[in-house]
Amino acid sequence: MNGTTFATTPSLDLLRDQPAWQDLGACQNADPEAWFPEQGGPTALAKDICRRCEVRTDCLEYALENREQHGIWGGLTERERTNLLRRQGGARRLAA
Ligand code: SF4
Repeated sequence: MNGTTFATTPSLDLLRDQPAWQDLGACQNADPEAWFPEQGGPTALAKDICRRCEVRTDCLEYALENREQHGIWGGLTERERTNLLRRQGGARRLAA
């Protein structure tokens, strides 16, 4: 041993918690950094891929339900998801 440490593999419990739709995402083999740009960084590439993704709706629902704070999910940035949730909240109040 040379003192190098290696990352441990995720626990089986963590893998079981992964939604199946993620295996079908169009981003599976893409550079993940495109989905997690620095604030104000480019989002066009990730959004373009999301637009053509067959599990976009599942992805966006997951992000909204789990209040994902970072990255592009379902083709929307954090700010766009926050705005969508606000609009949905307003619509629910109007319907009540
Ligand atoms: S919608 Fe975008 S982020 Fe979500 S799985 Fe598809 S390509 Fe990936």
